Amino acid sequence: WEPWNDPQEKPHVQLVGVSKRFGEFTAVDNISLDIYKGEFFSLLGPSGCGKTTLLRMLAGFEQPSQGQILLEGSDMSGVPPYRRPVNMMFQSYALFPHMSVERNIAFGLKQDKIPNLEIAQRVEEVIELVELGAFAKRKPHQLSGGQRQRVALARALVKKPKMLLLDEPLGALDKKLRAQTQFELMNIQERLGITFVIVTHDQEEAMTVSTRIAVMDHGRIVQVATPTEIYEYPNSRYVAGFIGDVNIVEGRVAEVGDGHLTIASEDSGCSIRARHALDAPVGAAVWIALRPEKLVISMEAPADTRSNCMAGEVWDIGYLGNLSIYHVKLDSGAMITTAKTNRTRDTEQPITWEDRVYLTWTPDAGIVLGQ
Ligand code: ATP
Repeated sequence: WEPWNDPQEKPHVQLVGVSKRFGEFTAVDNISLDIYKGEFFSLLGPSGCGKTTLLRMLAGFEQPSQGQILLEGSDMSGVPPYRRPVNMMFQSYALFPHMSVERNIAFGLKQDKIPNLEIAQRVEEVIELVELGAFAKRKPHQLSGGQRQRVALARALVKKPKMLLLDEPLGALDKKLRAQTQFELMNIQERLGITFVIVTHDQEEAMTVSTRIAVMDHGRIVQVATPTEIYEYPNSRYVAGFIGDVNIVEGRVAEVGDGHLTIASEDSGCSIRARHALDAPVGAAVWIALRPEKLVISMEAPADTRSNCMAGEVWDIGYLGNLSIYHVKLDSGAMITTAKTNRTRDTEQPITWEDRVYLTWTPDAGIVLGQ
């Protein structure tokens, strides 16, 4: 299921050259983006990069200074929030403290003058969907953070929007509850088939829930792709560093072969063979991104230590239970992070502080990035 690769498929939302300026300051800078029906789409980026502003423009709370937003093909310029087929769930949840869960959920429908019988049915359906049956009569202060989050979600879903916008929906939850709620959200989204657009600054969250992620930086989108593509083929050092852990070593292209590059790298103390994903001529300065888990750490020197092999000393070890993180100080002085799973029956001698080690990797594991 990849509607973004299907030329027959029409986008659910289209942003065409959208910018938003607040006085002199450009919060959103010329963004063009298509989101498809049924996607769980994430806007990911550091604080202040314009994610919320973009979401508020989709909702209609802000008007673009420039550009167009099309929802199912119609131009949304000047269309107020309540006339758009979208609903927004706020980070603060904005629940009414004096109203019960049921009444909080029913509130929007009452305002829309929906008949009482239908309201009762819809509220019941959605309460069941978010598993709040036992809490229907409680007030928000009698609920846990996770339950309040579900009330807010129910309240947004009961209006049957075609698209739901969620601003840091899990921001107030602790790590464990957050992980669990991510799966619940995905389940609900899949069952209803509504397009979800979520704002988050948590890369793990974006990786877990999304069909696609747009990584933002200073009001711009730097890459839009599936979680796997973003992780395996980041298009810049910024994206590589933002998603997951990464080691960056510097080098210069020494040879361009058929499908691969050879890079001379003083940083790593070896010559690096990598997949040729970049149009970099001989002599070009590049970065090579190496994911910690793609490096194999060993105390035994490989047959060829000159190519894709960094030698150094174990500087630090972080024990995480299922795996250990090793910080290795290379002979060049550079620090490299690698991870190794802790198996119960590991016959190898354990690697410890100050051991001399070799880090090796396959040519496919190195991502070459332009400087
Ligand atoms: P966070 O994750 O911290 O919420 P964000 O990526 O959602 O950040 P936005 O809230 O979209 O960022 O804000 C982007 C920039 O625009 C910020 O520098 C912010 O100060 C500025 N900004 C947002 N709203 C306004 C406003 N109404 N007037 C002036 N500046 C604003």
